[in-house]
Amino acid sequence: MNANIDKFEVLPWSEFFETGNSIIDEQHKVLVGLLNQLAAALVNQDETELNPIFDELVAYANMHFSDEEEIWMEYFSDDPWFLSHKETHGSFLPSVMDIKRKSLSEALPDTIESVVHFLLQWLIFHIIDTDKRMVIALNALKMGAKIDEAKRLSEKEMEGANLILFDSMLNIYKELSSRTIDVMREVKARKEAEERLSEANIRLEKLVKVDPLTSLFNRRHFDNTFKLQLRKSIRDKSALCLMLIDIDYFKRINDHYGHLAGDQALEQLGACLLETCRRPDDIAFRMGGEEFCILTASKSKIASAQFAEKIRVAVENLKIPNIHSEISDCMTISIGVTHKTPVIGDTQNDFIDAADKRLYLAKASGRNKVVMSH
Ligand code: GH3
Ligand code: MG
Ligand code: MG
Repeated sequence: MNANIDKFEVLPWSEFFETGNSIIDEQHKVLVGLLNQLAAALVNQDETELNPIFDELVAYANMHFSDEEEIWMEYFSDDPWFLSHKETHGSFLPSVMDIKRKSLSEALPDTIESVVHFLLQWLIFHIIDTDKRMVIALNALKMGAKIDEAKRLSEKEMEGANLILFDSMLNIYKELSSRTIDVMREVKARKEAEERLSEANIRLEKLVKVDPLTSLFNRRHFDNTFKLQLRKSIRDKSALCLMLIDIDYFKRINDHYGHLAGDQALEQLGACLLETCRRPDDIAFRMGGEEFCILTASKSKIASAQFAEKIRVAVENLKIPNIHSEISDCMTISIGVTHKTPVIGDTQNDFIDAADKRLYLAKASGRNKVVMSH
């Protein structure tokens, strides 16, 4: 799920974080970016997203530390500043691995916050305090100062950034990150609620227009669809064809095989009609009970009659037993077809009445047949 929470930053980059060494600053920016990505993945609670970011953070931090150490090494070699700096680097990765294990096993809100706070504190301290100190001393060393002198100079310059200031700044960043995490959570929850609502709406929409037994569209959807098709046909001066389908002696299937078998026969007929109505312009509906209809557009009368006959044969070929039918051993259907290019004033009832008359003729003249309007 993408709730776009990756656009939020728990630690926005600030110029204040710059040490003055462009290589180190660029790498710090990437590390801060990875922390932001990690926070979004933690809130998303998506393991597939989380794992690669942790891996990238570890790999990048490793590379950054060794690049940094190379820079310090040249000027500080075995000075205690360098050694303690190296030690801090060494302690970072085991802590991250520990955090990774914890985050994957318990995605609790408190865990997320403490993970983000730990990394944030580490990065800010690393960047603003230690690295800045090192860069100032390094620059002095490059200018020819002795190591003790360079370190004194650095300490003096960093005096302004006293501990209280550092602490209060860190607290502000922690507070800011906690609020950002809260907003990310709210955005995620709202997005999820929106998705659930839209899924429920889709289900509801389907429920309103689909017949649950046959999965065909229902009468209500027929009324809506017919209205639109009629208007379109009048506008385009194109033909509209309506086929009313009624199962022959269906009551006898119920009576002889049981109501459940009757339902199954209706289901099979529904599937058969869906299968036959493959073109987007051919739509099958269950009008109610054992009555169905098909709405098709822009076919010639001959094509419509052939299509209706194809459906009749397809149903016959289902070979659904109906031994008490008076015309066959199997279930059959009768179809009344009306085919007309409608004009202004023509209504849905005109079409249904016309098709119903043909259906009545099909029944009266022996059933299992198609009767077409003139
Ligand atoms: P005809 O050839 O004249 O159409 O005869 P028929 O028996 O098909 O017609 P009739 O109108 O006498 O009977 C229709 C039957 O369809 C009666 C009704 O119980 C049954 N029926 C309607 N809806 C359902 C349904 O959802 N499931 C089942 N199993 N039967 C249904
Ligand atoms: Mg009927
Ligand atoms: Mg019937």
